[in-house]
Amino acid sequence: MELDYEKLQRGIYEVESLPKDFSPHHPVPDFGYNHLNTRGLLYRPVLDEHYGRHESGHIRWPGDRPFAVCLTHDVDAVSEQYLRYLRKARGARFLRRRAGWKRFKWSALHHMRHVSPRFHTRRDPLHRYEKWLAVEEQHNARSTFFFWPGWSSVSKHHPSDCTYDLSDPVVLDGQKCTVAEMIREIDRRGWEIGLHPSWYSFDDADEMKSQKDSLEEVLGHEVVSVRQHFLHHDIRVTPRVQELAGFRYDSTLGFNDNVGFRFGTCHPWKVYDPERQTPLSIVEIPLIVQDTAMLRQEKGLRLDADTALAYVLQLAGEVERVGGVLTLLWHPNAVSDPIAWSLYTTVLEKLHKRNPWFASVREIGDCWRHQS
Ligand SMILES: [Zn+2]
Repeated sequence: MELDYEKLQRGIYEVESLPKDFSPHHPVPDFGYNHLNTRGLLYRPVLDEHYGRHESGHIRWPGDRPFAVCLTHDVDAVSEQYLRYLRKARGARFLRRRAGWKRFKWSALHHMRHVSPRFHTRRDPLHRYEKWLAVEEQHNARSTFFFWPGWSSVSKHHPSDCTYDLSDPVVLDGQKCTVAEMIREIDRRGWEIGLHPSWYSFDDADEMKSQKDSLEEVLGHEVVSVRQHFLHHDIRVTPRVQELAGFRYDSTLGFNDNVGFRFGTCHPWKVYDPERQTPLSIVEIPLIVQDTAMLRQEKGLRLDADTALAYVLQLAGEVERVGGVLTLLWHPNAVSDPIAWSLYTTVLEKLHKRNPWFASVREIGDCWRHQS
């Protein structure tokens, strides 16, 4: 059957493909449920091809660059020591089996790191955030760091949620500081800070707004970009919730276990409300490549570094062909993983040679809005 491109862009296929029992308790539906995947079209921007974007130069990027690269980071953890402990706890059989332990487990873990010196070692391998800024600076790039609003700003917790607080200690440029101070410093240097809201924010506008308010209080100015943690997003409600909370840009619509074009496009678009069939004001900058989808060995594509690089460059070629945006997500904990870190620096070098416009989510969104 021929693809209906309007249905594709308006999210109707996405709604039709959702698992029947999709609810907050269902795992996030991934590429297996995607309509384009079932047609073998995940790695081609078919919507952009259909609208002839490769011929007309749909959007002009600053400096007449051929395409854009949007660099992003989801800050899921601020301490490697804590991450290790968490992985161990997640693997503990008694915790996995006894649902009744869940609530206790997460709050206990959260408080434990405040009393255990193991969580406060001076040489935490994650405490090198300046490395991200330095490597991006080399390419005149400014990325978006999505921070969650802090444990105490989230009213309902899910086992997959982040657990840090904005008062937690970190180290930036060799200086001890809090997460909040680091957020302000990254912002001051010209990088973007976006919100990485909790699992249960996806259908709750009040919760989303209060998490946005918390991050804005730390920053002292507005936060305009959002990416749902775990990509926990429901096209029927989340865009409306994000709009009600006052966001301008979302960059959630990608995959956790694959790479490619979830909506057949690498161009920003105004997300539709598929139930009311009206465009919302929220603009999507779709996620194309996530580090863990390629490199994790337990799930996803389970690639080695050379093969992952080949995937990224192939997708970059597709994006360049239609003059779109290649949105990349590398988690900050990749700084302590030699394979993931080296892949990031190699990807930036290879992409730089193709002369793209490196920009944050906000910059891409603002550029698109001014031309629409
Ligand atoms: Zn996350």
